[in-house]
Amino acid sequence: MINNSTLKIAIASGKGGTGKTFIATNLYITLQQKGYETTLVDCDAEEPNDMIFFESIKETSYDITQKVPVIDESKCTYCSRCQEYCNYNAIFILPPSKIINVIEDLCHGCGACSVACRFDAITEKDIVLGTVTSFERTKKSRIIEARTRVGGCSPGSHGNDWISPR
Ligand code: SF4
Ligand code: SF4
Repeated sequence: MINNSTLKIAIASGKGGTGKTFIATNLYITLQQKGYETTLVDCDAEEPNDMIFFESIKETSYDITQKVPVIDESKCTYCSRCQEYCNYNAIFILPPSKIINVIEDLCHGCGACSVACRFDAITEKDIVLGTVTSFERTKKSRIIEARTRVGGCSPGSHGNDWISPR
């Protein structure tokens, strides 16, 4: 018996192939069949596969974006201050050759380089990291899925699932 308050169940593991999806999808369908309003969240953004087992009547998607710096080389003095502020080695600079590049795949969008620049040479743009999609299955049940764009950086962990019945 589950009380009125929302209960969240996490099915997590640091290793792939241990049965997280098997447990999560079966728990989800069991709770749904018992009449609980249930949401299954597939957090395996690299390879979400919970929806392989289900159909949806409606889906809604939106992009997840991150800010990355854009360097205006007409204003840049190649002082290297932005590179010194960057903890992620995401700025490549060769002052003698007047070369400066942002390595977008390494950028974490922290904004430190923008703060560092004293010459107003850095602005920001949005890049798409992936999408979050909500699949409505019944009036009382849905699946939410995170999915990184192809070629995007790894989130650095194995996928996990959340279930929220109430
Ligand atoms: S936003 Fe942060 S991580 Fe990205 S290049 Fe600038 S300092 Fe580095
Ligand atoms: S801090 Fe500004 S001026 Fe200096 S190298 Fe970076 S972008 Fe260029």
